[in-house]
Order: sequence, then C-alpha cells, then structure tokens
Amino acid sequence: MNRRGFLKTFLSVVGVAAVAPAFVQSAYAQKKRGESAPAAGSAAAGGTVMVDPNDSVAKAVKYVEDHNKAPEAKGNHCSTCGFYKKTGMNAGKEVGSCTIFAGKHVVGNGWCASWNKKA
Ligand code: SF4
Repeated sequence: MNRRGFLKTFLSVVGVAAVAPAFVQSAYAQKKRGESAPAAGSAAAGGTVMVDPNDSVAKAVKYVEDHNKAPEAKGNHCSTCGFYKKTGMNAGKEVGSCTIFAGKHVVGNGWCASWNKKA
C-alpha cells in the first residue's frame, strides 16, 4: 500500500470510529425500546445483519450494495477488498464481514470509498 492509499484508509477508519459510537448508541436505544431494525439493515437468515447503505457510517464511506452503481469503484468490489472476508450467501448474493462495519455484513458485489486491494 502506498502512502496515499494508507492515508485514505486511515482517514476512513478514523472517520468511522468517530461516527460509530453514536450509531451503536442509537441501535442500542432502538433495541431497548423493542423496535426492529430497518429493512435494509435487517437480519438475514442465520442472524446475519446486513449494512444499511443509508446509515450514517455507510454514507460516510459511500457504501453501495452494487459496485456498478458507483463509477468511482472502477470495477473494484468488496470481495476483492482486503477488509472483506466471505461468510456465506444471503438471498442468492455472496456476503461477508468487513473490518469497517464490525458486527455487520456487506454484499460481496458492494463497494465503498475505503476499498483496498486484497493482498
Ligand atoms: S469495499 Fe472493503 S472496506 Fe468497503 S465495504 Fe467493501 S469490504 Fe468493506
């Protein structure tokens, strides 16, 4: 990874770290009130919680579930990202964990601005 790539990744992770506590607190309050998660962030079969592209953290890193809808992706996608680890299938799509979205899963065909080529 070159210096520019490192800085880009570092700033993205720091940005997520700054936003994540508020997101977690909101999710905890929602759970405490007995409310269910929104559809896009809903639990898939087996309890896998998918990242909602509309949540604040996802928006901060420009996450999309289809890399073809993000011209900046330039053909790159989550399944070729160093932060991604395949965990299985959900509704016919490959899904996996992502270091940036702890406890949630992203679509293998997705992409975000923190994409970093798998070593
Ligand atoms: S491109 Fe990489 S960092 Fe971004 S959501 Fe996908 S796996 Fe995570």
